[in-house]
Amino acid sequence: MKVLVAAPLHEKAIDVLKNAGFEIVYEEYPDETRLLELVGDVEAIIVRSKPKVTRKVIEAAPKLKVIGRAGVGLDNIDLEAAKERGIKVVNSPGASSRSVAELAVALMFNVARKIAFADRKMREGTWAKKQAMGIELEGKTLGVVGFGRIGYSIAKIAKALGMNVLLYDPYPNEERAKEVGGKFVDLETLLRESDVVTLHVPLIDATYHLINEERLKLMKPTAILINAARGAVVDTNALVKALQEGWIAGAGLDVFEEEPLPADHPLTKLDNVVLTPHIGASTVEAQMRAGVQVAEQIVEVLKG
Ligand code: NAD
Repeated sequence: MKVLVAAPLHEKAIDVLKNAGFEIVYEEYPDETRLLELVGDVEAIIVRSKPKVTRKVIEAAPKLKVIGRAGVGLDNIDLEAAKERGIKVVNSPGASSRSVAELAVALMFNVARKIAFADRKMREGTWAKKQAMGIELEGKTLGVVGFGRIGYSIAKIAKALGMNVLLYDPYPNEERAKEVGGKFVDLETLLRESDVVTLHVPLIDATYHLINEERLKLMKPTAILINAARGAVVDTNALVKALQEGWIAGAGLDVFEEEPLPADHPLTKLDNVVLTPHIGASTVEAQMRAGVQVAEQIVEVLKG
């Protein structure tokens, strides 16, 4: 049986496929025309956030039984077309949770201690000791918006740091909350009482611009906002205003409404913001886990 690997995949995942006796065709991010040529005789396709597996691609693959997405979001796969043909779609939703949580914590420390700012100043030849006064995290309150896989992972770390944990989620998991010493409150209370607010909700209609002008104004002027979920969960224009006018103290952002973030974007002009280019899942461990989990599911579908 043939598996088309259409995106970079960890070698351990390739081994899983090879050990199952599959023939592997590897081509990195083929465009649709090339993909149509490649899928003619494959039983499985593995992609990441690219390339797109469109209806046309699915129709050109008569032997296709399973599509694997090494990662979370399935928006590059035509799920409806796959379903119509009875093709299974598998992914690895939990593979990067710890990595994203650790990045959110890194951003939290970075903003709290003004590390990126101090580093920039040192490279400019300025010893910015006075301007780099920070805050400790122990004893502070972390507000976790979205208490799913990543939210739970960061709450565990926050507990170990000696932070108080407030949680907001329309589907509260009380058992997990108890485990992290967290308390469910409504969103407004969380925003009012937290020293750091970290976002871990999916981007859906209900969470589009969830953090808007009105809600940013509820936050403490000393508070820090972390967004490693999706850019559009925050109203960027309102956030820029909040950071410029001191409604909040700082922000750590891994995701943006427009990606890549334009070089001259107002966020890049602000010293109280730390920016990373959507690297939440970019760790060796997360990539390995994502690949292996998807490869194992493909073996199960094709051989199970
Ligand atoms: P998850 O599905 O395990 O958890 C999401 C949680 O959000 C759930 O508990 C859900 O009940 C809750 N939720 C849904 N609607 C809500 C609302 N209106 N208000 C508050 N909570 C709400 O997802 P996860 O694995 O923890 O991932 C969370 C998000 O992180 C993903 O959807 C993705 O957008 C983002 N993510 C980012 C990166 C990155 O590279 N920065 C990597 C992976 C995931």
